[in-house]
Amino acid sequence: MSIWALHGLRDGVVTTRWPRRGDEYAHAWRGPAVVRGDAAAAHIAAADAAAMCPTGAIEVSGRVAVDQGRCILCGRCVAARPDVFAWSAGATGPRAATVTRQALVVPPAPETDAAVAAVRAALAARTAALRRSVHIRHVDAGSDGAEEWEIQALLGPVYDVHRLGVFFTASPRHADVLLVTGAGAPGMAGPLRATYEGMPDPRVVIAVGADAVSGGLLGDRLTGVSAIVPVDIWVPGSPPPPFGILKALLIAMGKLVR
Ligand code: SF4
Repeated sequence: MSIWALHGLRDGVVTTRWPRRGDEYAHAWRGPAVVRGDAAAAHIAAADAAAMCPTGAIEVSGRVAVDQGRCILCGRCVAARPDVFAWSAGATGPRAATVTRQALVVPPAPETDAAVAAVRAALAARTAALRRSVHIRHVDAGSDGAEEWEIQALLGPVYDVHRLGVFFTASPRHADVLLVTGAGAPGMAGPLRATYEGMPDPRVVIAVGADAVSGGLLGDRLTGVSAIVPVDIWVPGSPPPPFGILKALLIAMGKLVR
């Protein structure tokens, strides 16, 4: 009997049952910073917020909020002001992948929910043909390599995306989903745009990670990949967990309602 067969007998089935069932590992995941629920009236000076956060993710105009699309999980705000900031929990929650950029700002503005519902309905109608299976083309537009490890994990036995009808392809002509990592380096703008234009409709673009969403640490020079291609789904995190990327793919396929 081979060593792999012995491993299989010892470990049993390791593949997550998510999204059909909850997953303990996903629930325990530490996500981007949030403003604590009991800190709604907190005040932070703009200069202090700028000194604390290396990516400008903390907004202090009128109220304190965190733009999770900019958060790189450095932890400085949580360490300096634990009375105001905390870590979000869970890798499959409502903000693990969103269909509007604005939905990544927490606490959300009152109009966010209605806008998200409308955008999600439009996306579902556009991508109805993708319900059963999608092929993905991944483009690295200046990544530091962290997101690539998480994408690679999707193909392993724990996430096993093939079970959900998700496959990777090398050709834009065969791709339904464009998965983009990196802050949108100028040298990759042409290849990224050419890849997008080579894909057939309906095509869905997913920005994976804080760099792709907002430019991340390079946010003072680059604004993320939406400056190059139109983004449909935003996945925060630095890097985001495989569950977050998987959630974005299931939203693209119309298999998740939130
Ligand atoms: S964890 Fe770091 S990057 Fe995220 S909001 Fe706090 S200070 Fe900014």
